[in-house]
Amino acid sequence: MNYRHAFHAGNFADVVKHTILTRILAYLMRKEAAFRVIDTHAGVGIYDLFGNEAERTGEWQDGIGRLIHVKLPEPAAALLEPYLASVRARNPNGTLRYYPGSPMITRQLLREQDRLMALELHPGDAWALKKNFADDFQVRVTNLDGWAALGTHLPPKEKRGLVLVDPPFEEKGEFTRMVSSLEKAHARWPGGIYAYWYPIKEWAEVEVFVKALKATGIPKILRIELTIRPASQPARLHGTGMIVVNPPFVLEEEMRTVLPVLAEILGEEDRGRWSVSWIAGE
Ligand code: SAM
Repeated sequence: MNYRHAFHAGNFADVVKHTILTRILAYLMRKEAAFRVIDTHAGVGIYDLFGNEAERTGEWQDGIGRLIHVKLPEPAAALLEPYLASVRARNPNGTLRYYPGSPMITRQLLREQDRLMALELHPGDAWALKKNFADDFQVRVTNLDGWAALGTHLPPKEKRGLVLVDPPFEEKGEFTRMVSSLEKAHARWPGGIYAYWYPIKEWAEVEVFVKALKATGIPKILRIELTIRPASQPARLHGTGMIVVNPPFVLEEEMRTVLPVLAEILGEEDRGRWSVSWIAGE
């Protein structure tokens, strides 16, 4: 387990991923009934952008660094507000230094009745995450394999909620694992919302992934992507993707509003592009 999210926290991929996360949570909050979020690859929860790792890559400067202080146009600004507010909440004196990860952003948006289950396999990271949520009865942090949790913790007792799957993609075969895990999880809880993140390095591997998703027969899969520059050789991360199963009915339209704005801000030299499409409909 070599992957350390501290090198990448707050980069363009995190911005898009966490924007989608907050839009799904905003939708779940429309109803009073409790929901649960299961974050299978949670990380440590908060990242110091002035720390060694973040400074070495500087990735956040071309991600959240570009977004936090600009005046955004409406209606995108309103849709981005829950995400940006969760970042601001960690930086009360106005200087951007701390970036909240997915469990911290989720926690920010939970109401009293809602719950978060966060899984993190790396022992040190799980320990740090536990410390960040010490005495918080709404959050349960477990030092276990997030893939396995998909088998054992579904469906949650609330019967509403989101499963966020954000693996490090440091091993070969991660795309295949995403598909098989989704099949298993969806069989146990067909009504849940599932958000699976994936890197865009080579289009060929993304297309294989999409084809495999289609072949599962699972309905209602929305594909959301943003690239900051065209693909190049050797392949490196140039885009970020998320598939959302059972997306809130407003998500497609919200993404069509927000992504053009994000593509303009995050894209390198006007080369940012975005797309929203359905892999499978009803
Ligand atoms: N979701 C986090 C966020 O948005 O702030 C970032 C997660 S990072 C991309 C992936 C994390 O998964 C790393 O912290 C890594 O230690 C952890 N990890 C790797 N394999 C795992 C597994 N099988 N189960 C749970 N966590 C795992």
